[in-house]
Amino acid sequence: MAFANIVGQDIPVDILQNGLERKRINHAYLFTGKKGVGKKFTAIQFAKALNCKEMDLDACGECISCRKFDSGNHPDIVDIEPEGKHIKIDQIRKLQQSISYRPYESEWKIYIIKEADCMNLQAANSLLRTLEDPPGYVIIILLASKEESLLPTITSRCQIVKFRPLTVDEIIDRLISRFKLDKNKAKKIAVLADGSLGKAIDFIENEETLTTREIILDEIKKLNNLDLVELFELVQKILDYKEEIDNILESIITFYRDLLLYKGSQKEELLINFDYQEELSCLDQEYTFDEIQAIIEEIEKTNNLIQNTNVNLQLALEVMLLNIKEKRM
Ligand SMILES: [Zn+2]
Repeated sequence: MAFANIVGQDIPVDILQNGLERKRINHAYLFTGKKGVGKKFTAIQFAKALNCKEMDLDACGECISCRKFDSGNHPDIVDIEPEGKHIKIDQIRKLQQSISYRPYESEWKIYIIKEADCMNLQAANSLLRTLEDPPGYVIIILLASKEESLLPTITSRCQIVKFRPLTVDEIIDRLISRFKLDKNKAKKIAVLADGSLGKAIDFIENEETLTTREIILDEIKKLNNLDLVELFELVQKILDYKEEIDNILESIITFYRDLLLYKGSQKEELLINFDYQEELSCLDQEYTFDEIQAIIEEIEKTNNLIQNTNVNLQLALEVMLLNIKEKRM
């Protein structure tokens, strides 16, 4: 069975199985939700069920089609993901060429476009033409974090399926059953993963991600007391982990989100960085609500610049940390 392996996404599963049952399959879907909640996995299970030779509403896991899906080399499923920062028009052109060939050995030919919000405008406009009139055997599944980050002309042609963040308990259960973690470790990771099973698994498979987070947050918590030289040293330290810059900035954002939450509620159990509870409660008095909000916006703005432009990373981080420290936003 395929759908039973999906964690916590009952509504998307219902929608897709309903479509299978009523034989009303759309040619374009948009799965939205944060990274790591199961969009890609669900798209593959759906594709597997659509092409299964034995079952109509699920996948048997045993027929030749299912076995090819499991080994990752089914010829009628095509993955597209950003090359560098964007999905480019050449990639969409390639999709359009391949789309005109009928499926090799199944009823459906399925295209999964990961991080569809990274399509540049040219690519998006080009894809639009395909979405307007796809061949009958084609299904295109777009994955994106938010519906709003895509052109309305694209979203209006898709059936939208929303994925929710997973609960801490759902993640704990999965971590214990799959990785045999003890309950305490599973809990720590599940809370930090902030609704994303993918992120939790990443923490387990790359333990250094957790260590990096601690190294950086240990500095961020005393940012107000750093002098200029120390602040530049902190930037150098972050640059040592350049490849993990997304994760680092996200950790810093969650740290300030926690501060905001703690300030509003004084409830420790709501914190994601619950291992920094003491530090957060000390910082509480140093900032107003508006200041914390502005800090979070400043980090998001910097993250955007880093992801989408060729900004100088060192300079961007220096400006960001200085602005936060001086509350200059
Ligand atoms: Zn099968």
